[in-house]
Amino acid sequence: MNLRTLSFALLFSLIAVGSLPAQSASSETTVITHVTVVDVATGTELKDRTVALQGGRIVSVSVSDSNAPAQGSVIDAHGGFLIPGLWDMHVHIQDLEDLPLYIANGVTGVRLMFGSKHTPALRAKLASAPVAPEVIVGSAIVDGDPPVWEGSIVVKRPEDARRTVDEIKADGADFVKIYNGIPRDAYFTLADEARKQNIPFAGHLPYKVRASEAADAGQRSIEHLDGIAVGCSKREESIIKELQPLHYIEKMNLVAAAFNSVDAVKCQALFAQFRDKGTWQVPTLTLHRAFGFLNDGHFTSDARLAYMSGEVRHRWQPENDFRFRRWRPAEFELHRELFSADEKLTGVMYRAGVPLLAGTDAMNPFCFPGFSLHDELGLLVDSGLTPLAALQSATLRPAEFLGRTEELGVIAPGKRADLVLLSADPLADIRNSKQIQAVWLQGKYFDRAALDQLLNSAKRRFGKSKLR
Ligand SMILES: [Zn+2]
Repeated sequence: MNLRTLSFALLFSLIAVGSLPAQSASSETTVITHVTVVDVATGTELKDRTVALQGGRIVSVSVSDSNAPAQGSVIDAHGGFLIPGLWDMHVHIQDLEDLPLYIANGVTGVRLMFGSKHTPALRAKLASAPVAPEVIVGSAIVDGDPPVWEGSIVVKRPEDARRTVDEIKADGADFVKIYNGIPRDAYFTLADEARKQNIPFAGHLPYKVRASEAADAGQRSIEHLDGIAVGCSKREESIIKELQPLHYIEKMNLVAAAFNSVDAVKCQALFAQFRDKGTWQVPTLTLHRAFGFLNDGHFTSDARLAYMSGEVRHRWQPENDFRFRRWRPAEFELHRELFSADEKLTGVMYRAGVPLLAGTDAMNPFCFPGFSLHDELGLLVDSGLTPLAALQSATLRPAEFLGRTEELGVIAPGKRADLVLLSADPLADIRNSKQIQAVWLQGKYFDRAALDQLLNSAKRRFGKSKLR
């Protein structure tokens, strides 16, 4: 491809999202001065610092010196608070047009929980998005028979599980995403093969597997607090016998029964196991809250719907979702009770030292790409996390989970220049994580006007850049 066609292709891709955000060339030095650097590892706030960026990396962090000669472009961030770029560790992406919303909300990385059977093609599509967070790409969902979602990989027997892991590894996904209906024997074979192939497996807890068994088997993360209340219950064995895939109302009642029969000692033993084995929990409180409030007109008239396509707004109505079609007010009420039990459970796990990650389940009803990560941080604080711990669950902890603390998670020389500038202190009040003045995405600068441009483009979109 010669230079002319390259620039045409670039122009075309930028037109696709509406406008070119303000960006500085990454070879140039950018200096952010007089900013308070939030050290998310310790909770220390380093006042009046100068942070220099070059080539998409942080080059230095030093005390601001007004006599120092200006070099490169200088951004005076007096009064501002600088935090590492945020990660949403549980998302779904349906449309490339969702992706700028992450950047507009300071989310510079996401973990995609339902990939594709053709990962290289998916990665190529994702790479064509002009403004996007880094995406950790899960496999297609691996489920039992029948699968919940179209496009899943079905495993019935242990040999299916072994072959599936081999195929997913060869296809290049970052991890194997597992789901509710995998039979027990297939699950343990999948875990064995994943260990042999050195590929992580993560996702739901299959209905027929105990949370303690999943920790022993090496499941890297459990989503949605799946199986935790059941694993804490005196009735664990009988509840697992009764759980059936696709029976959502029955499942809700069984989880409620589990919460009502919790054995605190058993619970602490399970949490100790999560700690020892490194079984990360992604509570997705945003999702649990949404399911409980889908019949609440105040909740469903969220102003952020303006950023979603008409098709998504339609799909998010409960009558258009197979999971909620049988729900009456009593089911929504029960789910609201489960949501507050989930918050309490999250607080107990936090105090027990269970490693936690912030994840929203974006693109599920009323789980907004980008925006909802801030909802999740607020819900984690409501659950008992400190603002610092909540912030860690979206910065330092994802870096640890991904084994990438060398380049991500904190503001320090050598780390990637993924940064969010806030106008107020997030450690004083986690809601200040929404007061975003600027974002750097691998060194690319988006000032407030550029972020607003991303938001305004989203309002005009039609949802036509489908991922599949
Ligand atoms: Zn999900």
